[in-house]
Amino acid sequence: MLKLEEILNKYFGYSEFRPGQKEVIEKVLDGQDVIALLPTGMGKSLCYQLPGYIFNKPVLIISPLLSLMQDQVDQMKQFKEKRVVALNSFLNPAQKRAVLHYLHEFRFIFISPEMLLQEQVQQKLNAMELSLIVVDEAHCISQWGFDFRPDYLRIGQVIGKENRPPILALTATATQKVLGDIESYMEMRNPYKFIHSVDRPNIHLGKLMFQGREDKIDWILDHVTKSAGPGIIYTQSRSKTESLSQRLLQAEIPCAAYHGGMDPLDRQFIQQQFIDGSLEWIVATNAFGMGVHKQNVRQVIHESLPSNMANYMQEFGRAGRDGEDSLAVLLYAEGDEELAKFVGIDDYPVDAHVDSYLSYRARQELPISMVHNGEISETAFRVLDYWMHQLHPAEVKQRLTSMKIEKMRAVEEVMDLIDTNACMREKLVHYFGQELESKPTDCCQCCGIEYQSIVQPRVKKDLAAYELNWKKRLEKLLLGIS
Ligand SMILES: [Zn+2]
Repeated sequence: MLKLEEILNKYFGYSEFRPGQKEVIEKVLDGQDVIALLPTGMGKSLCYQLPGYIFNKPVLIISPLLSLMQDQVDQMKQFKEKRVVALNSFLNPAQKRAVLHYLHEFRFIFISPEMLLQEQVQQKLNAMELSLIVVDEAHCISQWGFDFRPDYLRIGQVIGKENRPPILALTATATQKVLGDIESYMEMRNPYKFIHSVDRPNIHLGKLMFQGREDKIDWILDHVTKSAGPGIIYTQSRSKTESLSQRLLQAEIPCAAYHGGMDPLDRQFIQQQFIDGSLEWIVATNAFGMGVHKQNVRQVIHESLPSNMANYMQEFGRAGRDGEDSLAVLLYAEGDEELAKFVGIDDYPVDAHVDSYLSYRARQELPISMVHNGEISETAFRVLDYWMHQLHPAEVKQRLTSMKIEKMRAVEEVMDLIDTNACMREKLVHYFGQELESKPTDCCQCCGIEYQSIVQPRVKKDLAAYELNWKKRLEKLLLGIS
């Protein structure tokens, strides 16, 4: 049999593994369940792609986001892998039937949790032999499962405990609690855990305190006109993304707003412009980021408080994937925590929804009509519906209350980061149950940080000169004039 390094070279063109990869792959090949925490940019996907070339049976990859899934499929196709497919709601019924018919022929099958739960899909999967089940972005089980996409919590039940291939759960950020949730909800069998440090030493952590909200905007405008991107500004609301990006455009900064309420095509277009460098900044809600593979993001600014530490880590972690120095700045104005708490529980089922759900049932109407009648949002209904199937109504109410309290507490934890005079990096790493091994220079606001030594001054693109240059090149090309 070929050595792992030879396979790595043959299929991926690398001569050596990155930290953790080989260890994880060896355990997977041994048939063991594995949880791997590898930070962004450490080559998580290789951990299942390489085994896929050794096994003679398909690898099933459960992936949370359609865009992420599509991106991974495209990347693999670029690397000449033809036997890869994504089973998701992008397929029309005829395409879906065809994919299902030939499913066993594929080497890599990407699937959304919602699709996995469909009976037709389960029947097909049960009839075939899989070599490995991968749960990508596995922290979503815990982070999203309870209050956003309960289908995540059902994955373990669907896969079952007996007669199944090994499970590989991959994540870039997970606390001890989340690691525990992954293990129990996926019904993993004594998994081997590879936990890499969550610290990203090339991202320098700033924070700034302001009196009023408008002061934050003034700082942003000043900062982004002087320092170089590309960068992402995270803010809370959809309307805020629009208004802030307008202000930046007026200051002649090429930028665009991005949020979940936009047309998917528009979103894809903006994402692409950001990736190819025609946009310097994106002003976004937390809908932006996952599946966006841009290596050279230099700055991430939080105009508003993130809703919890894990989100904060993931959001600023989109900077510096190329390993180069990058800046993350957390802005705070008095009262921001109240806003963050409000946003956290805004789209959330309440006790009255539980009562309404029961009366729909009593009238033998489908509770989903609550959504159609505008009583509740679809997201909130999914959460409610999941818990109504799991618990008694009184328990559901209790559960909703405790989840709300939990969300408030999560915001308070982020506030610790604002209030502290101690090292922010240390605080973040401790939050994930780890120890910080060493601090980089310009570590954080509390240890001492010079923004100017981390980010380059902005070079304003002279659009007129750029155009002239372009015309000259075209003339030279077409007419031989130089
Ligand atoms: Zn520090």
